[in-house]
Amino acid sequence: MRVDFIMPEEENQGVSWRNGKWEKRPDKFLIIHKSGKNAEKSIDKGQKIPYTGEKKAGEANAGMERIDRRRVWALLLAAAILAGCLAGCAQLTGDPFGNMKIASRPARQEPGEGETSASAGKPAASSSAGGTAAQSGQKTAQTAEGTGKPETGSSAQQTAAPQTPPEAAAILEKAKALAAGYDYDAALALLRSYPDFDSCDELVRASAEFESVKSALVRWPDPTTIPHIFFHSLIVDTARAFDGDSDSGGYNQYMCTVSEFRAILQKLYEGGWVLVGIRDMAPAVKQADGTVRYEPGNILLPAGKKPIILSQDDVNYYEYMTDSDGDHFPDKKGDGFADRLVVDATGALTCEYITAEGAVLTGDYDLVPILESFIRQHPDFSYRGARAIIGVTGYQGVFGYKTHPKWKGILGDQAYGYQIKAAQAVAQSLKAHGYEIASHSFGHPAYGEISADAVRWDVQKWEDEVQPVVGDTDIFLYPFGSDIAGAEDYSGPKFDALYAAGYRYFCNVDGRDYWVQIHDGYVRQARRNIDGYRMYYNPEMLDDLFAVKDVLDPARPLPVPPI
Ligand SMILES: [Zn+2]
Repeated sequence: MRVDFIMPEEENQGVSWRNGKWEKRPDKFLIIHKSGKNAEKSIDKGQKIPYTGEKKAGEANAGMERIDRRRVWALLLAAAILAGCLAGCAQLTGDPFGNMKIASRPARQEPGEGETSASAGKPAASSSAGGTAAQSGQKTAQTAEGTGKPETGSSAQQTAAPQTPPEAAAILEKAKALAAGYDYDAALALLRSYPDFDSCDELVRASAEFESVKSALVRWPDPTTIPHIFFHSLIVDTARAFDGDSDSGGYNQYMCTVSEFRAILQKLYEGGWVLVGIRDMAPAVKQADGTVRYEPGNILLPAGKKPIILSQDDVNYYEYMTDSDGDHFPDKKGDGFADRLVVDATGALTCEYITAEGAVLTGDYDLVPILESFIRQHPDFSYRGARAIIGVTGYQGVFGYKTHPKWKGILGDQAYGYQIKAAQAVAQSLKAHGYEIASHSFGHPAYGEISADAVRWDVQKWEDEVQPVVGDTDIFLYPFGSDIAGAEDYSGPKFDALYAAGYRYFCNVDGRDYWVQIHDGYVRQARRNIDGYRMYYNPEMLDDLFAVKDVLDPARPLPVPPI
């Protein structure tokens, strides 16, 4: 994945719009917070790094990764040369230097490899590739020794000499990652794309294994039985969210906490649920006459696995949640939510969050980065790369950025341009990671209740102001779940306005387990709210997904206020 834009430090951070002008916020500092044990430790120690350090730290990390990978490839290359001259890889017949040639390819492609790995978000795959190659390399070194041929390299070279050529090993690891996400066809095609596939034992073995697992997959019999659950922004700091102010009750009713969301993901995973995309459920299929028709999807999962769709509404990081003093910018007295999605210097999706002490952190503070971390650990939770649908309105910008045109006059062209570009970079990165971006309307009105003219205006406003930032979409998530019709087929001016703007997937809100209509020209699905209200008042309605008692955050004040 490529992100063309990283917001310059001076525009991105450390500045506030105060008293009608930009001001440096001298109190801001950054604590580097990445997922993983070490990162948590650094937080515990309260390691403070000046703002200018963020990018440098990121670059340093990326650099370290490059160095590590280079060293691995260099060892492999040296070892492969040795192996090519001596015993060689049994698969490479003929010119023994063919081995050397093949081994050198990954070394030359290394920067590209790094990008692919980053975009797929599968660092584990590349590290285990190194492990596999190193292990098989040891075997080759022993074989070479056994032949009694003269030594031409150091012992370090010998210990890393590969039996499977590095390019084949790299292909194998990528294929394993695809197979982990149930895309066995792609995995098999990748394995067979290797020129010497037939003579490479490891690839042939993997291919047979994938074929065997693939043949046991079960087609999900009825895609109209797929549940769709959704969340709002996640509460990071329960003390601030539930501090008793006028917003506390609403947070308690409509939001989940970070700890609840993590527990829910774990329970869904343990229960055999697998994230699929709305297009997996009902893809647009081109017909013989050139038209497109929506049809039930062909979802193939191992027996016992069950598809589910996930979305998040209002991923805008509204000011009421993050800004306590009315200056339109997040601050430490905000209600304890992340304040924006960020593409960090390594290209990863993360969130910015301001602690009660005023420390500005980046890390797993909302659904997207938490889900990314979870899928990194459990790649089999995502069907063929599926992620969540991210719904955005437009009246207060998107993803926490000041993209509303009113900010152009306030910020000036350059600073406003940075806000737009940063939000575009987030949209680009979301899509590269497998997320879908949906319209959640521009101004969050109840489409079922407002006039057709008002719907037309709102739809157009999103097209004019949000679409240029986040890109085109055909998914619409009704605000308040307020649909434009009952269960009957869509028709009328509201539908015409939505259809003309390109929407084909329409999601309302409903408590039942699942509700899906697949029409020739469009798809409708009901979504289930997972929030404090549902968990407290109707826990039995979630029994098919998880037991509320297993996930409820003890920091949530009970009873949840009635609506
Ligand atoms: Zn909403």
